[in-house]
Amino acid sequence: MPSGTQVRYELQTNGTLLSDAWLDLFEQYEVAVGVSLDGPPRANDRHRLSHAGRSSAASAVRGIELLRSRPQLFAGLLAVVDLANDPAEVHDYLAAFAPPVIDFGLPHATHDDPPHRGDPSVPEYGLWMSKVYDTWLAQPEHRHSVRMLEDIVALSSGVRGSVETLGLAPPTSVVIESDGSIEGVDTLRSVQEGASWLGLDVFQHSFDEAMLHPKLRNRQHGLHALAGKCRNCPFVNVCGGGYLPHRFSAADGYRNPSVYCADLEYLIRHVQGSLRQHGWDPYAQATSSS
Ligand code: SF4
Repeated sequence: MPSGTQVRYELQTNGTLLSDAWLDLFEQYEVAVGVSLDGPPRANDRHRLSHAGRSSAASAVRGIELLRSRPQLFAGLLAVVDLANDPAEVHDYLAAFAPPVIDFGLPHATHDDPPHRGDPSVPEYGLWMSKVYDTWLAQPEHRHSVRMLEDIVALSSGVRGSVETLGLAPPTSVVIESDGSIEGVDTLRSVQEGASWLGLDVFQHSFDEAMLHPKLRNRQHGLHALAGKCRNCPFVNVCGGGYLPHRFSAADGYRNPSVYCADLEYLIRHVQGSLRQHGWDPYAQATSSS
């Protein structure tokens, strides 16, 4: 690691096995911990049952409460959006744990394996996240960030966001597996078997070599790598064509708009409309800061 580089370690878990002994270890090595929780027990149980088919919600909450006793280790909560859950209820339930950050993730999907929708003519995921935005905004006493929404605000004003799911900046993250192998973003596994495999490891290769790997270079080309519809889209600086795995089809690779295109457009319009209502012009801000 070059001198002057600061490494931040963060671990993501369902929280069920967190204990004081683990937290002692994380404290010793300065590892922050994020917990995956999709909302109240009924919501979380839809996708996060234990191997024995039982609810893991109570154990996850116990783990979060333990983490809250050492706030310096608490990195935040991660929820995957499920249209069957109520967005305001999910937000408020997660916010009650006072996390520094709530991350909402759209479900893994590609054009060959599209996301579940009740009515394909409605941008249901965009509506769902817009309700989260309204709920978040309505309670200014909350101190937490909702990363996807803050990034839409930041990117709308010409500031680089913090997630690789939005915007045009080249992503700079790789995944290091527990055996030392270096892989591309692990969600690419949802695209096809081996999509994230690079054939590199930390014992023989540098991160610079990883970033120059052909499989990662297709993430470095910003606007030029996008589908024509995205290149001409008025929201492209904020949306960036969506998250790479969500663009994939077997026929055209990654040169498609996101499977969440209509949802992203709806959400960005909603957030920018709200900013305008508060007297702020996103386009003027973006122009003046570019
Ligand atoms: S995915 Fe849709 S909203 Fe996003 S840049 Fe492409 S066309 Fe625009």
